[in-house]
Amino acid sequence: MYVSHLACPKCDATFDAEARRQVCTCGSPLLVRYALDQVADVLSPGVLAGRPSTLWRYRELLPVRETANIVTLGEGMTPILPLGKIGAANGMTHLSLKNEGLLPTGTFKDRGAAVGVSRARELGIDILAMPTNGNAGGAWATYCARGGMKAVIVMPMDAPVINQKEITAAGAHLFLVEGLISDAGRIVARAVSEHGWFDASTLKEPYRIEGKKTMGLELIEQFGWKVPDVILYPTGGGVGIIGIYKAVRELQQMGWIGERMPRLVAVQSTGCAPIVQAWEAGREESEYWPDAATVAFGITVPKALGDFLVLEAVRATGGCAVAVTDAEILDAQQRLASMEGLFVCPEGAATLAAAVRLAEAGWIQPEEHVVLLNTGTGLKYPETVDSRPPCLSPEDSLPPLSAP
Ligand SMILES: *Cc1c(COP(=O)(O)O)cnc(C)c1O
Ligand SMILES: [Zn+2]
Repeated sequence: MYVSHLACPKCDATFDAEARRQVCTCGSPLLVRYALDQVADVLSPGVLAGRPSTLWRYRELLPVRETANIVTLGEGMTPILPLGKIGAANGMTHLSLKNEGLLPTGTFKDRGAAVGVSRARELGIDILAMPTNGNAGGAWATYCARGGMKAVIVMPMDAPVINQKEITAAGAHLFLVEGLISDAGRIVARAVSEHGWFDASTLKEPYRIEGKKTMGLELIEQFGWKVPDVILYPTGGGVGIIGIYKAVRELQQMGWIGERMPRLVAVQSTGCAPIVQAWEAGREESEYWPDAATVAFGITVPKALGDFLVLEAVRATGGCAVAVTDAEILDAQQRLASMEGLFVCPEGAATLAAAVRLAEAGWIQPEEHVVLLNTGTGLKYPETVDSRPPCLSPEDSLPPLSAP
């Protein structure tokens, strides 16, 4: 393992990575640091090319010491698909989508869970607790089942029923709360201090980011060790965008890619847009967003612990932050399914809505390489599609159709 230490991005304190740690003494999330010069000595794009197509191919850039501790369901190497028709219809000739809906529990939360649970197991943790809007709970419960660990999950009552079922199926201890994810978080924090459990809340442990970082490593490998011009990411807690930025920086520091940055775009819903509000106001941190509500449940995070890191990633890459309406999100979801055969989650669809806006505004140029991150499958959100097909009696014949 090439982890050198844990570092605080706020106060620069450093910590030993072999001890269990949650956040910094100053309250900030901690980041994992590597001896990147040593990684560069043993790893190269050529070495990587021969490895299996899972995120564990980036083993030297991940925080697990012993192979035996890896908890895996074969996650990683999701495809990047061109969106030829939608791109052409919206003035983008190189529009593509990285489809995280193919991961084991149907969302990119599996990346964070695979690495986070593996590292927790390595550190001797046997009970994890976490608040969730649904998908993270599903992923962590599933990987805990695989790794033989206990998971305690607290989620808002309005969170998708499918997540409640997958968490229950995985044998985790599930509790619902009348409130938002922030309320679930307070319950978890109390339980953690009362029972000594490990707090696996977003950014309250350092290793989930490392899993999500592999999205960025993969994307750049898939682009032939080049970066696209623009990456759009649906931002809730922001771990994905922080992870992608960290991947870019680490590859730059190893000299595998040049200094040019992909412009990172944080996409939110107008029903919960604290990062966008902070971005527009030129602030370095966000403010709590009251009465948060959007169909894109996974990005309903009224105040993210790592908001300052998201805003830094956006600023440092020349990106921006954009909010789109739920109507735009559902329309984009419909178009991706019917024009490209991609039934994506509403969070993923939000990135298309944002790209269309940015192309119209001239912020995205027609020839630029633009990647949408679809963070999950639409199959986990059946209620987003209003399907009322006509009902036949057995004697009815079907009407003729014209060819497309
Ligand atoms: C959690 C989630 C997001 C937001 O991810 P963050 O990394 O927390 O910003 C986006 N899409 C889906 C489907 C999610 O489950
Ligand atoms: Zn600190």
